[in-house]
Amino acid sequence: EDLYRIRGWGDPYFGINSAGHITVSPQGDRGGSLDLYELVEALKKRNLELPLLLRFSDILEDRIERLNACFAKAIARYNYPGVYRGVFPVKCNQQRHIIEDLVRFGNPYHFGLEAGSKPELLIALASLKTPDSLLICNGYKDRGYIETAMLATRLGQHPIIVLEQPEEVELVISVSQQLGIKPVVGVRAKLSAKGIGRWGGSSGDRAKFGLTIPEIITAVDQLRQANLLDSLQLLHYHIGSQISCISAIKDAIREASQIYVELAQLGAKMQYLDVGGGLGVDYDGSKTNFYASKNYNMQNYANDIVAEVKEACDEKQQAVPTLISESGRAIASHHSLLIFNVLGSSDAPSGIPEVGPEKEHLILRNLRETYDSITPETYQEAYHDAVQFKDEATSIFSFGYLSLRERAKAEQLYWACCRKIYDIVRQQADVPTELEVLEKTLASMYYANLSIFRSAPDSWAIEQLFPILPIHRLNEEPSLRGTLADLTCDSDGKIDRFIDRLQSKSILELHPLKPGEPYYLGMFLVGAYQEIMGNLHNLFGDTNAVHIHLTPNGYEIEHLVKGDTMTEVLEYVEYNAKDLLENVRKATEAALQTGKISIEESQRLLQNYEQSLRSYTYLA
Ligand code: PLP
Repeated sequence: EDLYRIRGWGDPYFGINSAGHITVSPQGDRGGSLDLYELVEALKKRNLELPLLLRFSDILEDRIERLNACFAKAIARYNYPGVYRGVFPVKCNQQRHIIEDLVRFGNPYHFGLEAGSKPELLIALASLKTPDSLLICNGYKDRGYIETAMLATRLGQHPIIVLEQPEEVELVISVSQQLGIKPVVGVRAKLSAKGIGRWGGSSGDRAKFGLTIPEIITAVDQLRQANLLDSLQLLHYHIGSQISCISAIKDAIREASQIYVELAQLGAKMQYLDVGGGLGVDYDGSKTNFYASKNYNMQNYANDIVAEVKEACDEKQQAVPTLISESGRAIASHHSLLIFNVLGSSDAPSGIPEVGPEKEHLILRNLRETYDSITPETYQEAYHDAVQFKDEATSIFSFGYLSLRERAKAEQLYWACCRKIYDIVRQQADVPTELEVLEKTLASMYYANLSIFRSAPDSWAIEQLFPILPIHRLNEEPSLRGTLADLTCDSDGKIDRFIDRLQSKSILELHPLKPGEPYYLGMFLVGAYQEIMGNLHNLFGDTNAVHIHLTPNGYEIEHLVKGDTMTEVLEYVEYNAKDLLENVRKATEAALQTGKISIEESQRLLQNYEQSLRSYTYLA
């Protein structure tokens, strides 16, 4: 279990059972669990092909409950005379079934939605049904956006228009005057407190969004002049997603609390403090401030926010605000996981070439000698020699002094040296850094039936770590080490960073493939951002997705969202399936005229083509 650190990142939702299969407990410690391998087999029997995205709605519900419970506990602990009203940032996962679930699960907590764009506003406006829940309107806005948001108040919604750019102030004033609606307005501050990690650039003076302090003062004056200062009721900030370090969270809330109090003293009718997103997810289970982890838990997060805001307000005898967070990643990540199968593997060449009757080329003799000389005392020097001789072999081959067969032998000997050295290195406590590369060089390549670009774009774009591991055979020693290559013909379409006791490593412990038996891997914690940011590289489309809900008798499939067919992905790039088929049909007719194809062959080709158009874009 420790090998893949499941307890660290998976608790309380994922574990291993006595059959060596991953288990899913969608309701955490409170409910039953499912055997993931058996679930996948049962889904395959329903003709659902891999790769397959599994979404567990109970996990989503559990995440919402946990977040609200943490804030409720913190509010009680610090005698905070206010409430928490979270919102889910729609950008994190816009899928309709997910937003509908979130609205339903959030109902008891008056959980709202955050829109970051015009289309997201349309989703939020039509989806929110909970009285008292908030609709936070972020992102770039034009007149249409602001009008729609303001008119939503007439439906009983609670939109809050957050000013993110100085130009938006006049626009809001003008729309308000035109519609005769007094909006609730917020202002997004560019804090000087910095987020840490990949999204750290979301705060500071040069951040893309928000108003600097002088700009906020100007906005206050503009609103006062338009008799709308009492509309300004919310302060918002967002210092970046996946904040791995609690000190960054504390610094930000401390600064924001002061701005909040000061805005109230300037005459704004402040009521809400919106701390944005940033609540991290422990992707590698290390509980550290490494970027893929976090050195705090949800309760620490809520405690720090509640305590800091209360202290700042008490000091200036200011009424405390309703607290809002826009936690997306922390709510949505755990509920989705991708199951994919391995299509095959390739290994680095093995074995040692035999010595023939003739005298071998000097370079081959040198490599053999190097191989024989490898001991725990000499391996480092031997490694350098092996690399040098291999390079020499390549260069003399290029000048025509080594035959292709001899070059093959040289490479084989080089790999043999590497393996022998690696066996020694693995026993050492301190691995010299240059030899770490050996592990990667010798790793097998496992060909995975997925597209990284479609299903885990952050793994490619920003080196995000996701837990990846086999979902079965976990009571067998994984005797091989491998990296993953995806289906795309792009050399970036690979995964060679995995979680480890030491936070990240370049290989994954895997089992040897058994002929005729499937080997399933799971990529976990992919419920946030991955689906929408995934792209159509090589025209691999959306994967099949199923929504699973735990029942007293096991589980039910609440929704099945079929992945794209080839016809659908071709339509994205403006091809019409009928036209394509007709083009190919005409080509077969022309080939028949010249006798290049038989009727049977032409029919087979057309049937394959037609069937492909209706099929899944991944390999069967
Ligand atoms: N709010 C805003 C303004 C954001 O830009 C983001 C995403 O970066 C979020 C909320 C969600 O952040 P997270 O997923 O870290 O909770």
